[in-house]
Amino acid sequence: QLSLEQVVEHIRWDEGLVPAIVQDVDSREVLMMAYMNRESLKLSLESGETWFWSRSRQELWNKGATSGNVQKIVSLKYDCDGDTLLVEVKPKGPACHTGAVTCFHNEIIGLSASETEQDNKEEAGSTANSSATSSSNAESRFEVLAELESVIAERERERPEGAYTTYLFDKGVDKILKKIGEEASETIIAAKNKDNDELRLEVSDLMYHLLVLLQERKLPLDDIMSELSRRHERPRRD
Ligand code: AMP
Ligand code: ZN
Ligand code: ZN
Ligand code: ZN
Repeated sequence: QLSLEQVVEHIRWDEGLVPAIVQDVDSREVLMMAYMNRESLKLSLESGETWFWSRSRQELWNKGATSGNVQKIVSLKYDCDGDTLLVEVKPKGPACHTGAVTCFHNEIIGLSASETEQDNKEEAGSTANSSATSSSNAESRFEVLAELESVIAERERERPEGAYTTYLFDKGVDKILKKIGEEASETIIAAKNKDNDELRLEVSDLMYHLLVLLQERKLPLDDIMSELSRRHERPRRD
């Protein structure tokens, strides 16, 4: 690890600040961008948590100090021309002060998975690497879960009238748990009846309600994904 003095020299401090991009080391999702000054970089290196300079509040800011959503630093890098930092973190909770996992939840352009798949094929030509293609498909296949998670977070924050998710959050955790029980039972019945049309609907209901529960409990879906991939990497011996 370079010393602070060494690092500071490599960085272009425009008005004493450098933008820092924060990325989730596990999900690879880009979480947020904030500015660091020399002092916040020093504090980040010393504490192993992200510290920034808040331009609006004109103060040093330890991300998560009030929300509890601190970010444990796994790696810290500067780019080729030293004008941007990249911080890979393990976040304790959502990065955005709105409660969203990532600050980048306002989509301007969003090509669907099938559209980008087509582009990939055209670019790669006949020597397409099929394993790389299928792994990127694997990610886009489950994108809908991440989108659903952020819609649910938005419903909890904004409570739009008439939305079923608003109703669930208004009723509280017991209602959500009751629904999970019901949907699990209905899933079992559909499976017993060997009715896959019904099973598709019931599993969808169940997964949706599980995501509502995770939101209510503030347990990020990423934590479930990480847990599953940990188990996958390191199979249990029993
Ligand atoms: P926190 O650092 O999570 O305890 O949040 C404290 C305050 O910092 C919030 O009320 C916001 O004003 C601000 N804040 C938190 N996260 C962000 C972010 N990702 N981008 C911009 N401002 C933020
Ligand atoms: Zn470059
Ligand atoms: Zn650069
Ligand atoms: Zn945000």
